[in-house]
Amino acid sequence: MPNPSTTVAPKVVLITGASSGIGEATARRLASAGHHVVLGARRTGRLSALTQDIEARGGSAFAHVLDVTDPAGVRSFVAAAHSRYGRVDVLVNNAGIMPLSRLDALRIDEWNRMIDVNLRGVLHGIAAVLPLMQAQRSGHIVNISSVSGLRVDPTAAVYSATKHAVRALSEGLRQESREVRVTVISPGLTRSELTASIGDSGIKDAVETQMGIAIPATAIGEAVLYAIDQPADVDVNELVVRPTAQG
Ligand code: NDP
Repeated sequence: MPNPSTTVAPKVVLITGASSGIGEATARRLASAGHHVVLGARRTGRLSALTQDIEARGGSAFAHVLDVTDPAGVRSFVAAAHSRYGRVDVLVNNAGIMPLSRLDALRIDEWNRMIDVNLRGVLHGIAAVLPLMQAQRSGHIVNISSVSGLRVDPTAAVYSATKHAVRALSEGLRQESREVRVTVISPGLTRSELTASIGDSGIKDAVETQMGIAIPATAIGEAVLYAIDQPADVDVNELVVRPTAQG
């Protein structure tokens, strides 16, 4: 249901990885605040169900298949949103995977997959929206990094490398932009389906135990909404949102 208390004009907000977890929660929260959300992911059945649910609650949502590893597919996702709404105000680069493992396990395919989704996927998103936002002379790119973008832990070397890289390229984009806002949001342990991609069962069990203190994905959706709803001349650059109990 659109929030009558919001004073911010509705924005067209594209969200990658909207089929579960943080992306889904962010879509629900932004739609409830009156924004038009465009949902991208590979599991289109999930996106259709989410779109219907958001619309049943009075919100505005549109779903489009998306694989962020495919630059042409990302351009099609953005083009579909632009042709439907005539503008693209915000891109939330949220899609990500986290197949944790020790480096000496040599899971090279998983390393490459993380680089493809978590890093190249973000770059593909930036490439697809930046010309439009520059032509509009306004826009906002929100990149979801992680507490792993601020620290490094065993089994998370490659995941951390991708998330550090997301923070680095966001800072570069921020410095290059005078009209496009850039925000990095770094969640800590958050309830979602992220551990599903961990192939090593010992590591997966350990991380799922740590997830006992996880915060709900809605906490990250609130942070995204806060950043988006600031006045155009206010750029919230970095937010870290983690459980109070996380070390
Ligand atoms: P989920 O696994 O619940 O969600 C991940 C989303 O990414 C899904 O919607 C999935 O959709 C999508 N996705 C994966 N691969 C692709 C792809 N190739 N193309 C398009 N979409 C893709 O996990 P989270 O919600 O936790 O993850 C969201 C982001 O938050 C990630 O970037 C993650 O690294 C980050 N994060 C999460 C934390 C946590 O504790 N949960 C902590 C810190 C950061 P589909 O499979 O349908 O394509």
